Amino acid sequence: MKKNILVIHTGGTISMFEDQATGAVKPSEQNPMTMASTQLQEDACLIIEEPFNLPSPHITPNEMLRIKNIIEEKIEQTQIDGVVITHGTDTLEETAYFLDLLLNITIPVVLTGAMRSSNEIGFDGLHNFISSIRVACTDEAANKGVLVVLNDEIHTAQNVTKTHTSNVSTFQSPQFGPIGIVTKQGVIFHHQPIATKKFNVTSITKNVPLLKAHAGMDSLLLQALSQLNIDGLVIEALGQGNLPPSTLAGIKALIEQNIPIVIVSRCFNGITQDVYGYEGGGKHLKELGIVFSNGLNGQKARLKLLAALEEGRKKEEMNTLFHA
Ligand code: ASP
Repeated sequence: MKKNILVIHTGGTISMFEDQATGAVKPSEQNPMTMASTQLQEDACLIIEEPFNLPSPHITPNEMLRIKNIIEEKIEQTQIDGVVITHGTDTLEETAYFLDLLLNITIPVVLTGAMRSSNEIGFDGLHNFISSIRVACTDEAANKGVLVVLNDEIHTAQNVTKTHTSNVSTFQSPQFGPIGIVTKQGVIFHHQPIATKKFNVTSITKNVPLLKAHAGMDSLLLQALSQLNIDGLVIEALGQGNLPPSTLAGIKALIEQNIPIVIVSRCFNGITQDVYGYEGGGKHLKELGIVFSNGLNGQKARLKLLAALEEGRKKEEMNTLFHA
């Protein structure tokens, strides 16, 4: 029997056209993915939603929450066997991860996109879309959290990241690799992901900035943030989780205000740990009350801190939440 797949088109290059005269890639009146979706009804019964048509740099956590609400509403109204979301690739990993934190469902949820727009030679969007529908129709894709399918690979929302500005193999899971592949003959999983902790978020009200550390970083931006009523902060720290000593005055100003600070590493492999005992080293930062995150990148740790704060979690709970 055909499966019912909820398809949510949100925009991105996959839904754009290239202007042949100027070379500019942009959205148009009619979403080409909506046109293609109607032709694909033979493989699955597609229930198509197009809540907006945005380039993904225009997507915010509010749009992510809207996608989550659409999925939950549709599941309540009708039998849905899987979900496919088409999305711009720039922030695709963030929407995928936020949905992974927020959605407490077992059916497959797959995000996909394209690096080439719909009328360019070698358009990868239709292939990625069909692969995603195939994954969403696969029983084995259930209970694996939110998945990202592009270029014949299946990645987890937690580990995947955009690694190349233009190449079609841009989505990679550093350190861990994909959890499955899509071939002409089937969908094959070779790893079982660990379940993500879920958060109950109904609105977006908190302000959580993200900073990147660098050699010679000072306290200027940190001091400025301490004047701006932020709710939490994520810093992409150095190596295993260290900061230049000149940031400490700013860090202390934020800690005194009881603002949770989470550090991740600006290295894209490995996890943060309190290893170094020098001034600004991990051990020192931990003593000051900084939370060490277990392998997430900056943009995803930011969403996790946002979700935890929106759920009403306190600063004292962050160590446990970010260890898992
Ligand atoms: N800038 C585009 C976007 O994220 C890139 C893409 O979709 O591939 O909307």
